[in-house]
Amino acid sequence: MTEQQVRRSFVNCSKGEANSATLPRDLADLPWGELEVLGWRDPKAPLRGYLVVQREGRPVGVALRAADTRMSARRTVMCLLCQSTHSGDAVSLCTARRAGEAGRNGNTVGTYVCADLGCAARARSEIPPWLRERDPAEVGEERAAELRGQVETFLDAVLR
Ligand SMILES: [Zn+2]
Repeated sequence: MTEQQVRRSFVNCSKGEANSATLPRDLADLPWGELEVLGWRDPKAPLRGYLVVQREGRPVGVALRAADTRMSARRTVMCLLCQSTHSGDAVSLCTARRAGEAGRNGNTVGTYVCADLGCAARARSEIPPWLRERDPAEVGEERAAELRGQVETFLDAVLR
């Protein structure tokens, strides 16, 4: 996928915002076949983040804004996309402006997500303790499929 394809894929931000996004450097080499969702935080705009998924062969991107308040590190919080649990400071409440007129009217959708948006790698690599007796590859596939489902649901809410 090219940089231009990714910039054009954003459904909920202006062209200017899409053009100012800092994109991952290794876009051309990403293993899209096993990447349910590409997520990253903008190194130049600390509260901004992005999710890009392949939908029907085309990328669909969502720009996110992380809450500027952090949750307590003493709390355990689950990422609602990949369902990994973290200390509260490693999870962010991220909101996405809704696409189109709803978004222009200030409508947003929010969810709790891994603060680094690294859900795709985590779904396959971080197997919760209660699933460790099972085949890790199989569990990884299941978690990846669940992540995909959660991301689709979130996307639908942004696009609705
Ligand atoms: Zn996550």
